[in-house]
Amino acid sequence: SKRAAQLSFAEVVRNSDARKQAHCYFLRPEAEVSEDRLGFGLVAASELKANTLVLVERRLLEVPEFLTPRSSSEVPFCNMGVPLGILPGALFEMFPSLLAALRVSQNSYAPLLMYGLGSVVNHSCRPNTRWVNWPDGLRALLTREEVAAGEELTISYSGSPGQPAWQRQLDLFWRYGFWCRCSACSAQSVAGSHLRRPGFLDSDALRKQVDSELQASGLQALEAVPLEESYKAQLKNLLPLVYLQTFMVALPILGLLTLAAAAFAT
Ligand SMILES: [Zn+2]
Repeated sequence: SKRAAQLSFAEVVRNSDARKQAHCYFLRPEAEVSEDRLGFGLVAASELKANTLVLVERRLLEVPEFLTPRSSSEVPFCNMGVPLGILPGALFEMFPSLLAALRVSQNSYAPLLMYGLGSVVNHSCRPNTRWVNWPDGLRALLTREEVAAGEELTISYSGSPGQPAWQRQLDLFWRYGFWCRCSACSAQSVAGSHLRRPGFLDSDALRKQVDSELQASGLQALEAVPLEESYKAQLKNLLPLVYLQTFMVALPILGLLTLAAAAFAT
């Protein structure tokens, strides 16, 4: 059998063994992965009630190959404020570790905590789901409200309720390199202040529910992934991009300093 590392993202989603290797404990059949020209997304296959558990997965220590961008066309124009889009695509194809590092930068939750299948969930400034994270590395995707069949499941990557749309869009562009066109950003009538805050959630009770569901499905007890271990592993994966971005920021500064020094000397 093929290892998860050799499978495509779509195959991992469909295959329960591959899902396990990607540390995904369950993905509700009521949620389906869709793919269009903009990439992958998670869509409700049938109506979902509020607080439905959609996906449960565990933190990863590596960058699985199925998540790694396969070509330079997947490099965002901007990442953490650095315009990667001005670089020749061949550079990324020459150094696959750069593409893996880019995945860590773009997909990690709370810098350097990386998950597998949940990466499929797209951003909306008016998200209909939320992540619940536990210290041992387990996390669950939960609906925040009723979701109609066929509706996309979305999460907020950044921004807070009450922030004006232009500020959210700039933040997202600076950090992830995309210009948000979600319903909250495109509808002029929906002011930032109307964005919903998530309601109270009893995460201990939810964890009990998750654990009992995992047990009922015959899934093994979870091995905790210590935070330091996650940080160390993903920081190592991120380093090629840190070097590249530092170089890109430092180069113009060095150039200006050299020019200033030359002008001063003459
Ligand atoms: Zn938006």
